[in-house]
Amino acid sequence: MRVLIAGAGIGGLAAARAMLGAGHEVTVLEKAPAPRRGGGSVSLWSNGLAVLAGLGVDVAGAGHRLTAVETRTASGRLVMTVDVERGGALVQITRDRLLDVLTAGLPAGTLRFAAGVTRFEEHRDHVRVWTGDGGEHTADLLIGADGVHSAIRAALFGAEPEPFTGVASFQGLVHAPVDLGARGVLIVGASGYAGLSPASGGLTQWFLDVPWPLADPAADPVIMLKERYGGFASPIPELLDALASAEVRAYPHHRHRIPREWGRRRTVLLGDAAHAMPPVLGLGANQALEDVRALRDALADDPATAVRAYSRARRRRAVRASRFASRALALTGPQTLMQRETPMRMSAAVPDRLMTAAFTALHRAIGRPEAAQSPS
Ligand SMILES: Cc1cc2nc3c(=O)[nH]c(=O)nc-3n(C[C@H](O)[C@H](O)[C@H](O)COP(=O)(O)OP(=O)(O)OC[C@H]3O[C@@H](n4cnc5c(N)ncnc54)[C@H](O)[C@@H]3O)c2cc1C
Repeated sequence: MRVLIAGAGIGGLAAARAMLGAGHEVTVLEKAPAPRRGGGSVSLWSNGLAVLAGLGVDVAGAGHRLTAVETRTASGRLVMTVDVERGGALVQITRDRLLDVLTAGLPAGTLRFAAGVTRFEEHRDHVRVWTGDGGEHTADLLIGADGVHSAIRAALFGAEPEPFTGVASFQGLVHAPVDLGARGVLIVGASGYAGLSPASGGLTQWFLDVPWPLADPAADPVIMLKERYGGFASPIPELLDALASAEVRAYPHHRHRIPREWGRRRTVLLGDAAHAMPPVLGLGANQALEDVRALRDALADDPATAVRAYSRARRRRAVRASRFASRALALTGPQTLMQRETPMRMSAAVPDRLMTAAFTALHRAIGRPEAAQSPS
């Protein structure tokens, strides 16, 4: 089968690997003129790691394995420690590194840059696609892995309102201001939600959430973040001192309505194009990887009914993941009552083993159970 993939993000590149592995002919059409760089790091959970392992993508040496995630109050008091190894595994990997290892397995010529999909037409036995560089392509299947503002999604379902949640993360990588070992740290305070985590190459991934859109978009972001988070305990002041205004960027959180059918006969959506969700629990890329495997399996079973089978295989879990992420966003703010020091300290009464069990159950509910257990 000839497969065109719109978008060379995590979903599109992983889909390319999977489709090539299944014997299909693949071309990836990417709108950007060159590989995208930056964007901090990504948490890969057992389900995403298992899909990558099944594609022959080994991230063990490329990422940083975490053993636990601590939650603290703004004053630095430890509220809980979740043992993330108990329910599987958690690896932090920089987005650049993940895209590099995914790209490394593609034959030369698979990836075309400056080739954003502008239009497509479905016909009985093929799909025709036009790109911004003047190209015209014909294939048996078009995969729309073109992200939250997907042109393929808009063509399939019509224009939708901007799916903002009212929150954005300033986030990025810095040279470690403090040594976190193998632990991530989440800090919940009255003025917001923040986090740090070791990533690969001695770097630390950080985020600081803010209400979005910003009250004053022209303000210096580091000054604004210092005003908001300057009163937090260590390691936030060290982090704020390590930030440079020119390198700090906000990533708005989105949440899509997840369609019942993820495409038509010759066009399907994958990843954020189908189900952008708030990044609070670090689920989106892992859900995109689960899409990849489900789509590959659906095409192997019966290409004629693949879109329906794929949508059926994925929709329930993607909806559940999006719901969990949105609930977590509602609890972590910015500025909910739960974020104040007293309720945060009260939650320290819940034993860590119960929080670990709840967290493990949540990830099993969201990730495909067999994906969490077997990497094949
Ligand atoms: C702040 C933040 C932190 C996050 N942290 C995590 C995390 O820790 N763990 C996790 O699992 N997820 C995380 N996510 C979510 C995760 O980043 C996304 O779910 C994931 O990147 C989706 O991958 P994708 O390939 O579907 O889309 P994208 O990565 O957005 O890629 C889409 C690609 O399509 C290209 N494109 C756009 N339009 C066109 C077009 N018309 N034609 C061709 N190409 C086009 C774009 O240039 C881009 O390269 C986070 C998200 C944010 C905002």
